[in-house]
Amino acid sequence: MWCQHWKEFSRLHARYEVEDVDYRLREYPSFPEEARSLICGAKSKRTGQPCKRRDISGSNGRCKFHGGASTGPTTKAGKRKSARNGKKGGRPRKNQSR
Ligand SMILES: [Zn+2]
Repeated sequence: MWCQHWKEFSRLHARYEVEDVDYRLREYPSFPEEARSLICGAKSKRTGQPCKRRDISGSNGRCKFHGGASTGPTTKAGKRKSARNGKKGGRPRKNQSR
């Protein structure tokens, strides 16, 4: 099921964030086949037709237009990171190759 995939994905992602794993080394569960046919399904105010977008995002099961605003960082590490963003100096870049 889609929610199971999402739970597993979030769990891994949170762990990778905490452990600061490089993006290229992160391994996520493969996208479930049955989730490919899912559509957003939000009802349009204008036409009354359900939204047919297939790029379902997040845990809410809606597309990027209908999912609502982000609720911000959820993990402790994420909150710490976001608190540092925008401050003078900011957080150090991971990749100093440029
Ligand atoms: Zn939608």
